[in-house]
Amino acid sequence: MDINCSKEELKLFKTISDAATELGLHCYLIGGFVRDKLLGRPTKDVDIVCTGDGIALAHAVADTFPHKPTVSFFKNFGTAHFRLGELDVEFVGARKESYVSTSRKPQVEEGTIEDDQRRRDFTINALAISLNQGDYGKLVDPFDGVADLEAGIIRTPLDPDTTFSDDPLRMMRATRFATQLGFTITPEVFDSIGRNAERIKIVSQERITDELNKIMAAPKPSVGLDLLYRSGVLKEFFPQMTDLAGVEIVEGKGHKDNFYHTLKVIDNTAEKSYNLWLRWAALLHDIGKPATKKFEEGHGWTFHGHEVVGERMTPKIFRQLKLPQNEHMKYVAKLVSLHLRPISLTKEDITDSAMRRLLFDAGDDLEDLMILCESDITSKNKVKVRRYLENFEIVKQRLKEVEESDKIRNWQPPISGDDIMAIFGLSPSREVGILKTTIREAILDGVIPNEREAAYNLLLEKAGELNLKPVRND
Ligand code: ATP
Ligand code: MG
Repeated sequence: MDINCSKEELKLFKTISDAATELGLHCYLIGGFVRDKLLGRPTKDVDIVCTGDGIALAHAVADTFPHKPTVSFFKNFGTAHFRLGELDVEFVGARKESYVSTSRKPQVEEGTIEDDQRRRDFTINALAISLNQGDYGKLVDPFDGVADLEAGIIRTPLDPDTTFSDDPLRMMRATRFATQLGFTITPEVFDSIGRNAERIKIVSQERITDELNKIMAAPKPSVGLDLLYRSGVLKEFFPQMTDLAGVEIVEGKGHKDNFYHTLKVIDNTAEKSYNLWLRWAALLHDIGKPATKKFEEGHGWTFHGHEVVGERMTPKIFRQLKLPQNEHMKYVAKLVSLHLRPISLTKEDITDSAMRRLLFDAGDDLEDLMILCESDITSKNKVKVRRYLENFEIVKQRLKEVEESDKIRNWQPPISGDDIMAIFGLSPSREVGILKTTIREAILDGVIPNEREAAYNLLLEKAGELNLKPVRND
């Protein structure tokens, strides 16, 4: 089996080998680096394991380079790291681990290379390549990791119940690798995840979410989300999402399974965009459905207002999952709240004013909203999907025309809140809001033209109704 290394990498490995010989240590390339090289995936993280003191080896290696890269190290963990050009080089002393049930932090003692391979999470991550004189370049593969790489299988070196109970984060990692690499988790390993699902509770939410985001960033996120659902892990940290699952039937009428619908929408979105937050909007677009679900007699299932409920749930879910409380969250909440709007424009006679209103509300996020909305068309009925998509193209075209003529997307009304306060001598108040909205709505509805004079006249009229008089003439 061939691995493709750059000149820089080969030189580094030789240097490490020489330094290890000098210190009387054994050392190996290990883990993700070996796995990704064998798979031909790009990787810049070089993981080195050695018997004995990994920090001393890191210093010895770094010192051989003329610019002496700075070594950062953690004495407690016996790990050290430096950067070399594009490469991140990480050293660790081989160790043996034992766990107590309340924590994923092991008790650690020095061990052999084989001990170290045994504590790794999956056979495909336990592969090592010797950097020792004598057998330099030899693959050390006690758990048949290469066979698993070739077969596309995720399997643990130890009894999976031990591997997952020791460190439940590995359940997320198994799922993430299955999604990223398109590998299959063996049935024994998958069953074990099911048995240990509840133990994900001892892992910090930040670590869980890191893995979840890697799943979301993969080409087909549904693979991992479905595995997390079926193994029972998802419900432990994200019950709002598993609440979407299932179909209820009343009077012979069912609704679609909103969990699997959501997965399809995420995949559709992922085909069109790498934007992680747009994918999150896809994940959350129907999250308000369980709370708004009703069976209306003679009519069927409805989810009125689920986009409003979903918008409100978004900040809470972001907090719970330790996702950022910043503009990304606001962007997701906004797309959730608007996700029905473009499709509603495919119905009946739609006025230009409805188009203008959507352009105004979506602003710079219009293209992303259109991707989400198009991805949301998932019926099993092919004819229906085609009809919807055709209508959707018409809406896109009309939005483009209205935008070209009216320039609404990043539009500001001709009279601002500050202008209103100055004209009437007001401080920020409810009245200012009412006056501002009146002008904006009138222009969006096409009641008055998008011009300052018309806006000013309307302002005076509305202000009169509120008993306000200008303190200056405009
Ligand atoms: P990626 O870099 O894509 O996240 P990786 O497998 O390289 O994948 P790292 O977190 O960089 O993951 O870890 C490097 C190696 O350390 C892994 O390949 C694996 O051998 C080991 N490892 C990492 N996390 C764990 C864990 N929770 N349990 C056991 N071994 C682990
Ligand atoms: Mg890595």
